[in-house]
This record gives sequence, C-alpha cells and structure tokens, in this order.
Amino acid sequence: MKKIDHIGVAVSSLEERLAFYRALGLVQEGSEEVPEQKVRVAFLPVEGTRLELLEPTAEDSPIARFIAKRGEGLHHIALRVEDIHAAMAALAREGFQLLSEQPVKGAHGSLVCFVHPRSTGGVLLELCQPAE
Ligand code: ZN
Repeated sequence: MKKIDHIGVAVSSLEERLAFYRALGLVQEGSEEVPEQKVRVAFLPVEGTRLELLEPTAEDSPIARFIAKRGEGLHHIALRVEDIHAAMAALAREGFQLLSEQPVKGAHGSLVCFVHPRSTGGVLLELCQPAE
C-alpha cells in the first residue's frame, strides 16, 4: 500500500464542478458510469494521483445520500493495494469494519472495498486494486 490512487469528491453536477478544475488547467481523463455504485465519475490526473469527482445517478445512490446529509465535498481517500483480498482479510482479522464482504467493481475495471470511517478515525477509506 504505497500510493494514494485517488481522492473522491462528491458533486451534484460533474459539468458544473469540472468548470472549476478546467479553469485550474486540469484535464479530464474521460468519464464513466459505474452502475454498481450508482455514480458517474470523472477523473482528473494530478501529479502522481487523481481527483475522482462523483455525481449520483439515482436518488438512492450512496453519493446522493452523502450530499443530502452533508452537502458536496470531500468523500473518500483511495489507497492503491496490490491484492485487495489480502488487504481486506488483514483488516477484518484485526476487527476493522469493511463495508462489503467481497470487493465490488469500481471505475476502470478496478476492484474496490470501502472501510467504515469508524475504523479509520473518521475517514471513508477505499482500498483500490487497479485492473491489470
Ligand atoms: Zn473512489
């Protein structure tokens, strides 16, 4: 676990928020819908990592619920792992709370698993194993 894969930001509208990052000179790396998470995401590469903007595509999307409760803003930090099953097993063994028992599909064919903020000191942490 050596790198921050991306930082997730919850937004109501990708188009609206992308205007800000474009003004900063960041270039969007495409956008993708992730039906499993009920979000549309846009990645913005930043030296060594990426910002991930997440727009909900349904009212029962976790991102829609997050925005309804807390407003737009910083949502999660994603750490890249080489073996997500091993990382999940190591955390579970120590009694840390994972939000799914199996990895779920993330953007770009990655496998992801979220760790409950209760286990991390208030940060929603995503483990992210990129596609080969
Ligand atoms: Zn993410």
